[in-house]
Amino acid sequence: KASHATARTGDFARAPLPPMPSRRVAVIGAGAAGLVAARELLREGHSPVVFERAAGVGGTWLYDGEASAEPLGAGGVHGSLYASLRTNLPRECMGFLDFPFVADEDSVDPRRFPGHQEVLRYLQAFARWFDLHGLIRLETEVVSVRRSGDASWNVSYCRRKLAGADAGGELQEEEEQSEVFDAVVVCNGHFAEPRVAENAGIDGWPGKQLHSHSYRVPDQFHGQVVAIIGYNPSGMDISRDIASVAKEVHVAIRAAPAEKMQSSTAHANLWLHPMIDGAEEDGSVVFQDGGRVKADAIVHCTGYKYSFPFLEDDEEAGVVAVDDNRVGPLYKHVFPPRLAPRISFIGLPFKAIPFLVFQLQSSWVAGVLSGRIELPPPKEMMQDVAAFYTDMEACGRPKRFTHDLGASLFEYEDWLVERCGLERIEEWRKAIYVAARGRVRDRPESYRDEWDGDAQLLEQAHRHLAKYL
Ligand code: FAD
Repeated sequence: KASHATARTGDFARAPLPPMPSRRVAVIGAGAAGLVAARELLREGHSPVVFERAAGVGGTWLYDGEASAEPLGAGGVHGSLYASLRTNLPRECMGFLDFPFVADEDSVDPRRFPGHQEVLRYLQAFARWFDLHGLIRLETEVVSVRRSGDASWNVSYCRRKLAGADAGGELQEEEEQSEVFDAVVVCNGHFAEPRVAENAGIDGWPGKQLHSHSYRVPDQFHGQVVAIIGYNPSGMDISRDIASVAKEVHVAIRAAPAEKMQSSTAHANLWLHPMIDGAEEDGSVVFQDGGRVKADAIVHCTGYKYSFPFLEDDEEAGVVAVDDNRVGPLYKHVFPPRLAPRISFIGLPFKAIPFLVFQLQSSWVAGVLSGRIELPPPKEMMQDVAAFYTDMEACGRPKRFTHDLGASLFEYEDWLVERCGLERIEEWRKAIYVAARGRVRDRPESYRDEWDGDAQLLEQAHRHLAKYL
């Protein structure tokens, strides 16, 4: 197959664009969301500047072997990847629409569900292909975003550079500087601030505790009994990773089995339980069905919190509030109605096809900023947000699921596609995503390496993706 660097056309099918006003836009973050936001803004004729506090692009996918020194906290480390991580989506539906995530001669891992290094390589190739590097200021952290007059933003940032070994390896910090922008696009990610659930007695529990954010390799659990709280994709992977060296692994799951059960054939020492009821000073972990185990360690795979430390948080001047992991008010997870379109948020939804949603949201933001796409008046957007919250309440859905697209994923994507005037999302992409999700649930051990039954779908996918190679 041809390599990314030499053979991409990048000619995404879209209607020709009318002349448009160009805006100077600050993009915060150069992960997958920030990169595609910058590319969409450029395409629409804007002038983005991307601020990235890390030394390279890729965000989450820049593996950091140095886990946080605070096992339950963020501790300044952005990345949450563990060494063994492979993607939980197949390549066909993981990549951006017009820049397929295919294996090629530059691949470091050609599998359909590759290791994290291959995703980083893909994002680096994306940045190179679309000439984004000239727009990105690395090792530059945005420390505050404030409104400046009615129509612009004052963005303050600090350059932070880790000096080389000859200079003592120390963090060199330059003085804060500020620049004015017409608009801000927030792409700072939401897998860096661990969320730890409250559990009775956990503070006095004597064993070792850590959050999946700080998990890298299983070695420290050799021969131990380990309790894991949470069974999201990371919980599924990490429990198996640890079970390969531990004596026993006991996973507490929200969608619980009625009582303790063995998880799988591959790991006879891995047990599934109902959620945790509490922890005791003698080292016991107690489950809601009354079952208990004496454990050496607890690993919290309990998710993450949204956090925007650079935004003002007072009620009057504030941009958004975060309440029980609801970021709001936001029209369609992107625009705060009162301030739209001058500030926007890319990438908040979860249980989604991340890169695809980032691309569609970015295209929408870029089109709205240029005036090509219209937004409803602020009052209507607020009414839409209020109606969404009322619906959630009526269904008994807690606020923390506000950005969980779940069953509404395809409706949301189609809505954005229509706003942006793009081609409909291909049916094969949706079908492969649905099949992959089902397999993660049903065959957590093996779903990445066996893929049977839908050769036709894959053929359709590869025929389509070939257009962009
Ligand atoms: P990030 O990748 O987190 O990027 C945000 C960037 O913003 C970072 O580079 C950060 O340094 C920068 N930043 C933050 N604050 C500032 C600031 N103040 N100033 C300057 N820069 C700042 N998705 C998939 O599609 N497939 C998978 O298989 C998959 N597996 C995952 C496994 C794990 C363990 C995790 C945690 C996530 C996984 N995801 C997966 C989701 C993944 O997070 C998204 O794919 C995507 O990479 C998120 O991109 P982002 O740009 O929104 O955020």
